[in-house]
Parts: sequence; structure tokens; C-alpha cells
Amino acid sequence: MTRLDGVLALGARYDLPVLAIADLVAWRQRHDRVVRVADTVVPTPHGRFRALAYRDDITEEEHLALVSPLGLGTGPVLTRVHSECLTGDVLGSQRCDCGPQLDRALERVGAEGGLVVYLRGHEGRGVGLAAKLRAYELQDRGLDTVDAQLELGLPVDARDYTVAAGVLTDLGVDAVRLLTNNPAKVEGLRAHGIEVPAVERLRTTPLPTNSEYLRTKRDRMGHDLVVDAHDPRENPRSTA
Ligand SMILES: [Zn+2]
Repeated sequence: MTRLDGVLALGARYDLPVLAIADLVAWRQRHDRVVRVADTVVPTPHGRFRALAYRDDITEEEHLALVSPLGLGTGPVLTRVHSECLTGDVLGSQRCDCGPQLDRALERVGAEGGLVVYLRGHEGRGVGLAAKLRAYELQDRGLDTVDAQLELGLPVDARDYTVAAGVLTDLGVDAVRLLTNNPAKVEGLRAHGIEVPAVERLRTTPLPTNSEYLRTKRDRMGHDLVVDAHDPRENPRSTA
């Protein structure tokens, strides 16, 4: 057993790097956690995307990366890190704005180059499909999306972006122009060593069925959204 002073002296004496266990854990989370298991092509209305499947070695969750037909481009890569939402993405639910955000992201990435990382296990901000629908029940009775999850004893946002950083690293991407309205996503990637020099807002059209939800995301979770252009509280900010 050697204390820090001794380790540093030893490192200096033999010209060895010294690192903490936490550094090793962070490195392995980013470089060793996801395993690429498939690399194929999926034709979509927005072009033929290269589709890579990944397995998370810790949760065994499976994730997807969709690379633009134009490739990744040069410089910070136009990137959407999309959280799975079965109701929004697949069914076109109008209780949230996930479906239009995914569609806009694929459209832009398809036309400009870049990629979409699709994260499974992020349903309901990480609480799961059934819990999300239970929270909808409470929202039907007047609670907002934040209070509904708290009422159920659930975290408001349990999403983790370690896997997204791992997928980006596997694809050689270390800096992104992120398509998001959510500052937590920006911080989540930065915490795992991905540079985010620019953030681009994903505009969708608010609907009567989701405007209260969007307002809650803006006012209680800090999302950069314009829900009602006529509302004087809403002052579009620069997102660069
Ligand atoms: Zn959704």
C-alpha cells in the first residue's frame, strides 16, 4: 500500500503515468461499455442510412446509430441523441413532441450529413413505458409531467448519456453540433468527454394536445422551447 505522495514520487522516478481508479472507470465507460454488433443499411424516407447496432455490456440494452447517407462530414458532427419514445416515435402520439423531433432530426441529418443515436431504455425519461403511461393517468387528472412522476415516486429524469458517448467514440466522433432543446443532454455528453461546441434547437409545431407538456419542459426542466409565439414570456434565445 502506497499513499498518493509515494505513488507520485514513484511515477516521477520511473517516468510512469499516474491515474486514479475513477479515471480508469471513466475511460472504460467510454471505450469498453458498448459493443458494435451489426453494421448494415436501412432505407428511410430521408435516405439510406448506415445502421449500426450496439449492445450495452452493463444493461444489455440494444441501441442504434443511424449515419447519414452523406457520412459524418467534417468538423463537429451534426448529431441527434434521441431518447426512445414508443408512443411518440412509433404511434405518432401527440402527447409529446418526440415523433416530430426524430423525424426532423433524420431529415436534417439525411440532407446535411451527421448521425442520429437512438437510445433504448430512455422511455419516459428513463422510467419505462408502463410508468410513463401511469404518469399520463395522473396528468389526465391535472398534474404536470414533473409532478406526475414525483407523485409516483419516480425520478423526473433518470436518463444517462454514457452509452451515447460510447457510441460516438466508437464512430470516431469527439465533437458534435447537437440537435436538442434539452440542456441536460448537452451536459450529459460533456460529462463523458464529448465536446459540444454548438447546440441547434429542434423546432416542432406545438399542438393543443402537447402545449402544456412543452410548457412544463420549458419552465420546469429548462428546455429551450417556444410553445406560443404570442406569449410575451417566450423570448427565443440564441442557441449557439
Ligand atoms: Zn415522447
